[in-house]
Amino acid sequence: MLSSVASKSDTDTQTTYFRCISGCSAKHSIYDVIYTCPSCGSLLEVHHDREPLKKQHSADEWKKLFESRAATSTWPYGSGVWGMREWVIPSLKDENVVSMFEGNSNLFWADRLGKQLGVPDLWIKLCGNSHTGSFKDLGMTALVSVVKQMMAQGSPVKAVACASTGDTSAALSAYAAYAGIPAVIFLPAGKVSTAQLIQPVSNGAHVLALDTDFDGCMKIVKEVTQDNSIYLANSMNSLRIEGQKTVGVEIIRQFNWEVPDWVIIPVGNLGNISALYKSFKLMMDLGLINKMPRLVGAQAEKANPFYQSFQGKFKDKVSVTAQQTLANAIRIGDPVSYEKAVKAVVETNGLVEQATENELAAAVAKADLTGMFTCPHTGVALAVLEKLIKKGVIKSNDKTVVVSTAHGLKFTDFKVGYHESSLEEVQSEHPNPAVHLPANADAVKAEIANRLNH
Ligand SMILES: *Cc1c(COP(=O)(O)O)cnc(C)c1O
Repeated sequence: MLSSVASKSDTDTQTTYFRCISGCSAKHSIYDVIYTCPSCGSLLEVHHDREPLKKQHSADEWKKLFESRAATSTWPYGSGVWGMREWVIPSLKDENVVSMFEGNSNLFWADRLGKQLGVPDLWIKLCGNSHTGSFKDLGMTALVSVVKQMMAQGSPVKAVACASTGDTSAALSAYAAYAGIPAVIFLPAGKVSTAQLIQPVSNGAHVLALDTDFDGCMKIVKEVTQDNSIYLANSMNSLRIEGQKTVGVEIIRQFNWEVPDWVIIPVGNLGNISALYKSFKLMMDLGLINKMPRLVGAQAEKANPFYQSFQGKFKDKVSVTAQQTLANAIRIGDPVSYEKAVKAVVETNGLVEQATENELAAAVAKADLTGMFTCPHTGVALAVLEKLIKKGVIKSNDKTVVVSTAHGLKFTDFKVGYHESSLEEVQSEHPNPAVHLPANADAVKAEIANRLNH
């Protein structure tokens, strides 16, 4: 039985509900203000009972349904997330959907880069091509929509809050502003990029820059949200995972339901990799696919607790003090979704690999020279790809997807630093600074000729 939803009007909380990831038996309404299991303190997950979904549609019907909705402008199906609403939050009413038509991001063939690296079947899923420039939009549309429905049903929630390494706060601020809900943002002072900071500022969020790191901000926001009027929007809130999960379905749909061999994703708090696994598991259970891609978590060496845990065969959860890294959105030392992510790696026969500052910067530079404009986190994933190819783990004819998690334009300081050769611990091998010349045609012609001859 559901613990506290008897009076709620939604009809399908009986089949979609929060449950404890450690197996405690209680079910909780997704409209309750609850983040962890009241019995054991583990994280919760949104569970969708499989039988009703199987009865609703066959595997082929689900595929056709999702295909028919993709990238239409019909409310709310123009969103990549709400185009799969039955698998996300089925009980959400149309009028409470808070969406700017996120998702449906491009999955493109990295032709030149793949050939250079010796894996011609290489694809980039460009999740940064989204409203606030990162995949975080996918989770926030789900969470803020649920909050809107909670408020419409008379919940005491008055505001949403999150600690952030930058992109979460940008997404939360935008979706909260779109819905007219106040947002409070906790950022580690001086540790996010200007572009990331200016997004919540512009969207009217209450931005609090604290003299600590992300993990320190996380502790404070947990404390502040003990009060049920402020709703916690970090990824320990598993509603986020439901929205992010749609990337996994989208990748497979974009391949005409063919399953790639590998999906590589940069990981910090470990919500994203858990979300990918959750989507693959659901598609397996409902018969849309019959194998899973192997999932690779890519970490920065400066903030690598999950890599260290993996090295120890996941016997213990490792926590570290995360060091400064160019990949600041994954500068996390004590990842919240650890248990979920372990399952994602183990169940898909996946692995975890790491990249140094120099390796991630080199991977970005190489990718950008083939027409991309990648963020440093995507650089971590690309560097990990290179390592796995060199180790012979990823083979030349494997079909590999690298999830690009944010837009490069949010990280121009990093790119400028690279091309000025001023980044710490990075040897810029392909710096390409602008050439300053007098306004003189002969000088210009000489310069162009010189470059073309090299
Ligand atoms: C949040 C974020 C990540 C990591 O996602 P987790 O769910 O915390 O593992 C990776 N890249 C970017 C750009 C991000 O914003």
